[in-house]
Amino acid sequence: MKKPRSFKQELTACFGQPVAENPTQVMMEAAFRHHGLDWRYLTIEVAPEGLGDAVRGAKVMGFAGFNCTIPHKVAVIDHLDGLGESAALMRAVNCVVRRDGKFIGENTDGKGFLKALREVTDPRDQAVVMFGAGGAARAIGVELALAGVRRITIVNRSPRRGEELVELLRSATNISCDLVVGPEDYSVPADANIVINATSVGLFPDVDARLPMNPATLRPHMIVADVIPNPPETPFLREAKARGCRVIDGLEMLVNQGVIGIEYWTGIRADATVMRNALEEVFGV
Ligand code: NDP
Repeated sequence: MKKPRSFKQELTACFGQPVAENPTQVMMEAAFRHHGLDWRYLTIEVAPEGLGDAVRGAKVMGFAGFNCTIPHKVAVIDHLDGLGESAALMRAVNCVVRRDGKFIGENTDGKGFLKALREVTDPRDQAVVMFGAGGAARAIGVELALAGVRRITIVNRSPRRGEELVELLRSATNISCDLVVGPEDYSVPADANIVINATSVGLFPDVDARLPMNPATLRPHMIVADVIPNPPETPFLREAKARGCRVIDGLEMLVNQGVIGIEYWTGIRADATVMRNALEEVFGV
């Protein structure tokens, strides 16, 4: 069996480099300070065998909730009192919220992406091309389907996760969804409106890595988004900008999942600019 990644390994996988401080904690605490909230966002490493005790501990100690990451996103479900709609569909939780004394699991990754997208366009009835079929793609795909997109084409390097995601989206949300496996030089169809990189291509240190697609097929009417937070300007987004597309970078998704988490826990709508500035400082952008 594959050994679960530690919290530090997971941070390295998310941000592409070992980080001295957890960027999410820095971002959250910047928001708390800005809004005069006497709250704390702590980074606590929990071994898989201690997960149930940790959740029960958080509950009795009065935590408003917590974020969790790999290897706990699926296992945590067994220790919660219920799930939000999209978390139930994707069977993965990254944010737990206390509601009426109960711990409810949500998934804010896809919701953060959707919030960033909605600042630029209404996704209803749009045709989406999404590269990738891992955890980030799954979260984004489910939220886009619930938001009423017309079609999602998943483009993935290998078939297994691609087939699983297409099956999930078709069965759970009833939208039109198809899979393209592993082309070297994928051409984005001219009728696509939203194009997303939800793979890890472009993450530090492989900052020059390119998606297996033909950039000449990106057209000015397309909104092009990337999940990569570090560095936020990837070759994919540079190509898209050069072709006149509106772009959304991976920091926007990260900031917006934080904004949603803070609102769930505190009821306050946090200032996204303050949070983005804090992240940019951590990443030296
Ligand atoms: P996973 O490991 O679950 O999935 C990775 C995906 O990328 C798979 O679809 C994989 O294809 C594909 N992939 C990896 N390398 C290549 C390559 N060289 N060429 C083509 N496809 C490739 O990772 P996650 O989904 O959890 O995370 C993906 C990225 O999303 C990470 O880099 C992370 O930083 C970012 N992320 C950003 C967030 C934000 O808030 N901005 C939130 C969460 C994640 P295959 O199935 O064939 O292996």
